[in-house]
Amino acid sequence: MDIPSLVVRDDRVAPLKAGHPWLFSRGLKDAPRLAPGSLVELRDSRGGFLALGSYHPANTIRVRVMSRREGEKIDQAFFDSRLAELRRRKTALLPPLTSGYRLVHADADGLPGLVVDVYGERAAVFQIHTAGMEQFRGMIIKALAGLFKDAALVERSDLEARRQEGLEPRKARLHAGSLDGPVAFSENGLHFLADLMQGQKTGFFLDQRDARAAAAGLAAGRRVLNLFSYSCAFGVAAAKGGAAGVLNVDSSRPALELGRRQFALNDLASEGAFEFREADVFDWLQAAIRSRAPGTAVDFIICDPPAFARKRDDLDEALRAYAGLNRLCFELLGPGGLLLTSSCSGSVAPEEFQSAVRLAAGRAGRQARIIASFGQAQDHTLSLAFPEGRYLKTLVLELV
Ligand code: SAH
Repeated sequence: MDIPSLVVRDDRVAPLKAGHPWLFSRGLKDAPRLAPGSLVELRDSRGGFLALGSYHPANTIRVRVMSRREGEKIDQAFFDSRLAELRRRKTALLPPLTSGYRLVHADADGLPGLVVDVYGERAAVFQIHTAGMEQFRGMIIKALAGLFKDAALVERSDLEARRQEGLEPRKARLHAGSLDGPVAFSENGLHFLADLMQGQKTGFFLDQRDARAAAAGLAAGRRVLNLFSYSCAFGVAAAKGGAAGVLNVDSSRPALELGRRQFALNDLASEGAFEFREADVFDWLQAAIRSRAPGTAVDFIICDPPAFARKRDDLDEALRAYAGLNRLCFELLGPGGLLLTSSCSGSVAPEEFQSAVRLAAGRAGRQARIIASFGQAQDHTLSLAFPEGRYLKTLVLELV
């Protein structure tokens, strides 16, 4: 089959060569009417090969790079070798006693539109986001089955974002192996559970591994408030780090129920010190600030909300939401208090998030020092040539 060649504008050649995985519509000289997901070759104006990628005629990200080797075929061997290589590279950099990791982080790992998370080598969950990757489902499943023998293989392409690519969301599906409830895995020696079929994302927020380790290290003797707790992974880390108490708050009851199981799995007996509150975080914070009841005293807040901005258009509103939320956190804390605060909105840049948090502190009348900051854990690849890929930002602050 002949693969069409498209000519890249001269000023877009250098970023592509440096490893940027996208070519926007304005970077191409022509806009051919190819089917969504078609493979195309990108060439410079002298005909030199630049990359092989998948094309979408209606998306501003017009081409997503899949290979930089001329003549490489996107076939079973391609997926087999890419996944094996990613597994080797990423597991080599995982901390000890850690068996949950992101095997494939889409475009930044050269497999645009594909996400794969691995849980304890016994289960892998994948998501297909784009028309370009959709046609390779069979090869992806085969490659994963070859890499993780007898593992449960789950697809979680139940994603609204697929509509932007002209694809319908698909129901969660077990393609191979078997599951009898949430799957156990470890992170820095802690034991966790991921509900692969019904949990959020692929079942667990593996990207916060580094920030969770920091939370464990800072928690000793502190009363911890874990906001937007999901399955309480930060709470477990803080409790294991010697927290005097942990109150987990989330609006999702199933997430909190899984959280209770995770506390038990880590031999953290409740005895009133560990609480699980089903509530809206904004309402809960406002009520806590108003009442200042003894039970609401906290000295370490962890605040890891869902993405407030899905696209760049939502930016102003998202920054206002981050400022408002963090202001409430600052108001609840006193001098010496700690705030670990995150943003996972890809369209909010690190400096924009930091200035929203700065505004929040100012409005609450608090001063703070930045004692640490984190991005996504390394398995959620951040390519030097692709700074837009840094979606997760976490600041750890100490109030003065
Ligand atoms: N910190 C978690 C991940 C958080 S994901 C971890 O490390 O695992 C975001 C969570 O926020 C989800 O569990 C979702 O149920 C919850 N959520 C979203 N909006 C909320 C709201 N207004 N009040 C309380 N919880 C909310």
